[in-house]
Amino acid sequence: MINYLYQEQNWQSQLSDLITDPLELLQLLQLSPEQLLSGAILASEQFKLRVPRAFVQKMTPGDPLDPLLLQVLPHHLELEEHPNFVTDPLGEEQANQQLGVLHKYKSRFLLTLTGACAVHCRYCFRRHFPYQENLPKNEDWLNIKNYIESQADINEVIFSGGDPLTLSNRKLKLWIERLELLPQLKFLRIHSRVPIVIPNRVDKELVSLLKNSRLRIIVVVHSNHANELDDFTCAKISELVEQKITVLNQAVLLKDINNSAQILADLSYRLFDAGIMPYYLHVLDKVKGAHHFDLSSEEINLIYKDVLENLPGYLVPKLVREIAGEKNKTPLFGVSTF
Ligand code: SF4
Repeated sequence: MINYLYQEQNWQSQLSDLITDPLELLQLLQLSPEQLLSGAILASEQFKLRVPRAFVQKMTPGDPLDPLLLQVLPHHLELEEHPNFVTDPLGEEQANQQLGVLHKYKSRFLLTLTGACAVHCRYCFRRHFPYQENLPKNEDWLNIKNYIESQADINEVIFSGGDPLTLSNRKLKLWIERLELLPQLKFLRIHSRVPIVIPNRVDKELVSLLKNSRLRIIVVVHSNHANELDDFTCAKISELVEQKITVLNQAVLLKDINNSAQILADLSYRLFDAGIMPYYLHVLDKVKGAHHFDLSSEEINLIYKDVLENLPGYLVPKLVREIAGEKNKTPLFGVSTF
């Protein structure tokens, strides 16, 4: 067993002590190094392993097929080429209006304030995104402000990433205060996987910062499996919900991780226990290196039909795909090929 109590360590220490060596990860989980077939180390060099110890503690020692482990462990199949799997499946480099601004949808845009994530999810559609060339600095604020003011339809900003909750509370506060000065903005959405992988990120300062903002805050977490939501994680996220901050979840439908109606139903019920509403179930974006997580349209339709039959409507996440250039996410159920 892993001798480590993540509940007692502050999030900053956890973030600076991530596991980045695949062999250390396997050793902690009492798994043999042979688990890493030839090529996995090279895959890890191309997209580094990063995983917080708090997330590893939710994995089952001795289980090489643990659904949380498979989301983060580099795999030799990532090196295979597949013609439809490309480096920028959502065409984000074209949607990049100016430094830090990804404006794909009418009323809202993404502000990428950091390229860093607490965890590297092997299926991530931004695994090849050139973050370092696209991070706004303080002096870029004026250009961003001018851009927002030039687009009368914008009423919402989405802090995205990387993962915005890897930033300090001081830096988040600075950006939130800037946005609050613009009367046209009503909503601030924060997309983050950090509360799932380092639950202590939901600290008192963050809760107070979000609850006292003039903007209506929506936190969208990212959890794919009920095992990610242990009691401590649910309790920390509930601290946001108790302050009337809306918390939603988006998941990705992944082969060998959550491709069954039962697993998805367990996830929805567990989210609801914590006051989190299921929001989106994304089909996999066809990003280079993630082909081994892919499912066929037929498999996806069967699973989702089963989910619809087994869950009350308010616990069913919308099945969607993001298509490069489209002005909204595309709903998929009932579409025969996608
Ligand atoms: S946390 Fe989100 S942005 Fe970061 S690697 Fe995972 S899916 Fe990608």
